[in-house]
Amino acid sequence: MDSLHKRLEQEAESAGYHLNADVQFTKGLVKSLLVNERRYGYWACPCRLASGDKQEDLDIICPCDYRDPDLNDYDACYCALYVSEAARKGEKTVGSIPERRPPPAERQQRAQRQPGGMFGLSLPIWRCKVCGYLCAREQPPEVCPICKSKRDRFERFIEAART
Ligand code: SF4
Repeated sequence: MDSLHKRLEQEAESAGYHLNADVQFTKGLVKSLLVNERRYGYWACPCRLASGDKQEDLDIICPCDYRDPDLNDYDACYCALYVSEAARKGEKTVGSIPERRPPPAERQQRAQRQPGGMFGLSLPIWRCKVCGYLCAREQPPEVCPICKSKRDRFERFIEAART
């Protein structure tokens, strides 16, 4: 558990993310990830109820699809395993984070919906103006995982299709 915590910390930092600075709390979540791995065979989010069907739970395998938007909006992921740089430094307080995951019926509808638009993208593409790194997400990352430039060096490169 300690070694996984260390590994996650290193991976997060090298990719421009941050684990919660409360080590005891964070290790508790890491332990829950290991429990879920034993239980389901994958890292189901510790704070959500997994179905046990990997295909159905793909969006909540840690790091989940909702981590980045939650970091943007609330300075922490739903479980608060990952936090923003400001939260890590104690400059922002993390409160309770509303569940962003849509209910099962909506998830099913989304999965069946065909993408539209010129490129059929469901998310905009962001480009790091420093190194050219591209990523598809609602907002650019806090820090470019390649060249470590800050968010303000990203430009919106391709718009998402309207749904
Ligand atoms: S909410 Fe946080 S801990 Fe839970 S799966 Fe998402 S990134 Fe992992």
